[in-house]
Amino acid sequence: AEARIGLVGLGVMGANLALNIADNGFPVVVHNRTTSVIDDFIANAGDLADRLVPAQDYAQMAAALTPPRAIIIMVKAGGPVDAVIDELKPHLDKGDIIIDAGNADFNDTRRREADLKDEGYRFVGMGVSGGEEGARHGPSIMVGGAPEAYAELSEIVEAIAAKYQDVPCAAHMGPDGAGHFVKTVHNGIEYADMQMIAEIYGILRDGDGRSPEAIGEIFHEWNQGPLQSYLVEITAEVLRATDPETGSPMVDIIQDMAGQKGTGRWTVIEALKLGQSPSTIEAAVAARSWSAGKPLRETAEGLLKELPGAETALPLLEGDLERALLAARIIGYSQGFSLLRAASDEFDWNLDLSSAAEIWRAGCIIRSSLLDDIATAFREDLPGDTLVLAPSFVRMLNDAIPALRRVVSQSAINGLAVPALSSALAYYDTLRKGRGTAALIQGQRDFFGAHGFERTDKDGTDYHGPWGQ
Ligand code: NDP
Repeated sequence: AEARIGLVGLGVMGANLALNIADNGFPVVVHNRTTSVIDDFIANAGDLADRLVPAQDYAQMAAALTPPRAIIIMVKAGGPVDAVIDELKPHLDKGDIIIDAGNADFNDTRRREADLKDEGYRFVGMGVSGGEEGARHGPSIMVGGAPEAYAELSEIVEAIAAKYQDVPCAAHMGPDGAGHFVKTVHNGIEYADMQMIAEIYGILRDGDGRSPEAIGEIFHEWNQGPLQSYLVEITAEVLRATDPETGSPMVDIIQDMAGQKGTGRWTVIEALKLGQSPSTIEAAVAARSWSAGKPLRETAEGLLKELPGAETALPLLEGDLERALLAARIIGYSQGFSLLRAASDEFDWNLDLSSAAEIWRAGCIIRSSLLDDIATAFREDLPGDTLVLAPSFVRMLNDAIPALRRVVSQSAINGLAVPALSSALAYYDTLRKGRGTAALIQGQRDFFGAHGFERTDKDGTDYHGPWGQ
């Protein structure tokens, strides 16, 4: 059979994606920088080996593909992607499609797309979520680039994507960097959700003395209700796992220093550039950074005294933690989608937010039962274009916010850090007030810098206060 698609980079994601493509009936030409990996990969591919064509170099890859070629690059993000593009290009024809399926910074994707377009090639930035398992059996795929390029790829992309009730979780999001931006924000929401879950775990552990196993059971139960989601499901599994070496709960043996590869931080950086502040994502990135400063925390633990009279069991109501997590999760998603909206306006992407919600319903890490409601909310008339104001979410929040208040306030009183939960609440309470406290900020700015302010009672922007009279 003639191969239309090639794949460069047989690491964890690339190897699984290649098997997924082959499994769906498409022959795929594969290459890896360390070439010994190629033969091992094919030797271990079982029945699928027939559809895998090895290429020892880019010349062989180009020769084995029928033009217009489509080549997926799945290597380490950043410089390696540029290196592969540069080496690949001399072997390609105008009109061939290069697809970067790694976790690219969308600014790089915009640059690459513009440069390659000038040279006559087509470039697609494709966000892929779902980890190893997703790559093999169906990830969620967020595509950016020329719509005509996607039209040529959609048969393969939709075949390999996860399915939600038979609908492929893959879509063209917009031009150039739109797909990678949506993927970045997906990861930002993932950071926020993971952090909120970890905070609830902390409350159950330190504010209620529960064992990891018992907490795992609680998450397992919650996963049958409105919190149903991949992250809650795997949280239960992680908490119930035992370390085979020591027999201790696995989570107690894992060092509490969170890693990060950058997508959470990028979400925050891009948000700030757009004048947005997704506070739950910011808090989650901050919490990971603080966690990494383990030696400092160990020093501080001896110096910053325990709270006198801290409760050993927080006085919460039945169901409070579950509802608090639900409220905070809704706010986290809402902030993520507001950021997508802001980027879409800034870059003229015309992003369809209901489509983004739809393709996150299966395959990706933040898949949850809420996404169906979110997709529906974006298809209907949405007040202020803001998810938390959708009638269905207003109802959920009215029910759940009192629980979030009790959880955040009791955590504060008892010295438990809940940065993401509390920043969700702070955002909600800020949103809730038509007139907040920024008049004073404007007064201060005018006082020291003559920055001027608007008045509530007159038009115009350059009024000054009677300071120093
Ligand atoms: P791995 O570390 O498993 O594989 C990295 C691959 O990149 C290898 O094939 C490696 O080749 C290749 N590579 C590295 N540097 C170069 C270079 N300079 N030139 C050519 N090839 C190079 O990474 P993953 O598969 O985990 O990740 C790949 C991409 O997918 C990344 O962008 C990642 O962020 C993204 N991603 C990862 C997810 C995950 O869950 N792991 C989920 C979603 C996206 P060699 O064998 O020669 O070293």
